[in-house]
Amino acid sequence: MRRIVVVGSSNTDMVVTTPRLPLPGETVMGSDFVMAAGGKGANQAVAAARLGGEVAFVACLGRDLFGDEALGRFREEGIDTRCVVRDPQAPSGAALIMVGSEGQNIIAVAPGANSRLTSDDIKKARDLITDAGVVLLQLEIPLAVVAETIQLARTASCIVILNPAPAMPLPQALLQQVDILTPNEIEAMLLTGCPTPETAAQELLNQGVKTIIVTLGAAGVLLGKTGLPLQHIPGFQVIAVDTTAAGDAFNGGLAAALARGESLETAIRYAQAAAALSVTKRGAQPSLQNSDEVQQFLKQHVK
Ligand code: ADP
Repeated sequence: MRRIVVVGSSNTDMVVTTPRLPLPGETVMGSDFVMAAGGKGANQAVAAARLGGEVAFVACLGRDLFGDEALGRFREEGIDTRCVVRDPQAPSGAALIMVGSEGQNIIAVAPGANSRLTSDDIKKARDLITDAGVVLLQLEIPLAVVAETIQLARTASCIVILNPAPAMPLPQALLQQVDILTPNEIEAMLLTGCPTPETAAQELLNQGVKTIIVTLGAAGVLLGKTGLPLQHIPGFQVIAVDTTAAGDAFNGGLAAALARGESLETAIRYAQAAAALSVTKRGAQPSLQNSDEVQQFLKQHVK
């Protein structure tokens, strides 16, 4: 098994449930308060580790209580944290979330230390990155750092997976260096300006992405490879309770299976199983399953 290096964000999500969302200037009494570990980088690192991956995380935390807490949790998950740096000035990343009674939400994210991950930090993680089997990134850290990591990974024989979330325009030169791009359908359409996931997937292949996997929620994924027709791979049917972090479970599962040497098709099936299981539980990191649970689920769902 090869190592997985996740380079990305870590946040603490603070969630208040309210009967309705407040208007500007208004205070609404909420019912409960939940604090949970989040951030796409941390979620995907934890997902891959629970799924049996040997994971190292490259991230920047503040020198504060949230940072201490996050670091402790990564270690408990068996994640290699030698390249998690602490910024003495910035607070750890945090997201303030209000959820109304009908599930609608408003979210404000303060990236804090996530935006202080630097080129130097990537240089210090050089050996870790170039020795990895899979390098997994998202877009909640500075784009220049994402680009630098991808460039470094390209000099070695790593599989580079970029989950382009949150959506933002990306230079074609960067897309061309990515092995597997994993937007959800909205991100795929925003990235390209194309009106459907199919046209967006095709456009991204035209721009030089080698393999595109557009995740389609309950409908599964759209897989595209250079020179081959697009293929729709259905997901697993489950009763969804909370789809938060479905994409993170998918990306963590994909990385874990590829690092074990599975084929792309087998890895997608495994990732879809991990993601389907995650939507049957509430929360982000609390909903991420372990490898035994996913194997069990796959045995029960032989297609
Ligand atoms: P994101 O969370 O990034 O928006 P998606 O919603 O596309 O990503 O979900 C990622 C993957 O999770 C899907 O491709 C699918 O395999 C799985 N998934 C998501 N929602 C469901 C669902 N309701 N039932 C079964 N699988 C789901």
